Amino acid sequence: MDADIPINAAAPLVRRSRQASVRWGDKVVSVGGDAPVRVQSMTNTDTADAIGTAIQIKELALAGSELVRITVNTPEAAQAVPYVREQLDRMGIDVPLIGDFHYNGHRLLTDYPDCAQALSKYRINPGNVGKGDKRDRQFGQMIEIAMRWNKAVRIGVNWGSLDQELLASLMDANSRRTVPWDAKPVMYEALITSAIESARFAQSLGLNANQILLSCKVSGVQDLVSVYRELARRCDYALHLGLTEAGMGTKGTVTSSVALAILLQEGIGDTIRVSLTPQPGESRTQEVVIASEILQALGLRSFVPSVTACPGCGRTTSTTFQELTQQIDNFLREQMPVWRAQYPGVEKLKVAVMGCIVNGPGESKHADIGISLPGTGEAPAAPVFIDGEKRLTLRGEHIAQEFQVIVETYIKNRFGVAEPAN
Ligand code: SF4
Repeated sequence: MDADIPINAAAPLVRRSRQASVRWGDKVVSVGGDAPVRVQSMTNTDTADAIGTAIQIKELALAGSELVRITVNTPEAAQAVPYVREQLDRMGIDVPLIGDFHYNGHRLLTDYPDCAQALSKYRINPGNVGKGDKRDRQFGQMIEIAMRWNKAVRIGVNWGSLDQELLASLMDANSRRTVPWDAKPVMYEALITSAIESARFAQSLGLNANQILLSCKVSGVQDLVSVYRELARRCDYALHLGLTEAGMGTKGTVTSSVALAILLQEGIGDTIRVSLTPQPGESRTQEVVIASEILQALGLRSFVPSVTACPGCGRTTSTTFQELTQQIDNFLREQMPVWRAQYPGVEKLKVAVMGCIVNGPGESKHADIGISLPGTGEAPAAPVFIDGEKRLTLRGEHIAQEFQVIVETYIKNRFGVAEPAN
């Protein structure tokens, strides 16, 4: 024996935050506490276009977004919010909506009570609620409306719109230190202070702590980690986590994944959003897919069956196995909105699609269902493994379609709920 103690599997730590809830009608999305980490997204439509906005929210919800934020920036947008809600209710989409307010939120929520009622949560940026004596008054106005309609509130600080008066006062205090801090820790302090002091002010006005979430978004990975570790240490409010302005494509995906994974592994974060700039023509739902994949990769949630595939190498000189992997992945994702209700537990399914005999049979045996395709020079046969056993071998032109049928049959048999006997 080389070691006296076993190597235990890593697991995310658990931070005990307060449990909050975001409601719409009978739907209650619990956030924080013992609730799973929730996936959130944000539309990029003009909210005044109620139909276009409702369609995009539906797409985001069907992709797995459990909360959707919409911009409420003008009287036209505020007027449209109840119609957006109505359209969604008509389509059977009960995802709670979060209104994103800056500068004029106090006026819009006061002037458009139907908007205030149709939203489930208000996002308030303390850096953008007004200056001087207006700040507390306008912030308080929004909190009172949240209490009147029993809505949750996210106090969402962003370093791009940090409360400049607070920052200036912390800079002044810093300059009086015997050994002043660098500018960065002062900025961290300003972000955290702005969020926590605003939350305490909201509580002093009567808002229940269980209706409050906090966020302090920055665009650098190490900055985000530093700020959230300290934020989590100083308070027990539920936290919304996200790297702001993450960027596009690979860069946005990688930076968000890295930042969120570090914090989630430490038990920090109760809702997450991946703020991805869509590539031209790319669906807005990509941010939901990535957020879900982050949680699934960490073992925190399961959303869709996972497809394990090898990268391919000199042993796979055709594109067959790449095409099969893509087809199976697309097929599983496309079916999930229906399967989620029809086949409870299907999201935990593990499928393997492997390129050759080297690791193919082994990896396929670890999956619930796996296929090992023939590599270059191997016999043109693809053994299929089910529950760790080789069950059959596929040959010929239609391996992809046949494997898809096998996967679907397996799902029906394993996850289908038996009809009650009459
Ligand atoms: S399983 Fe085969 S094809 Fe895939 S990477 Fe390994 S050696 Fe290459």
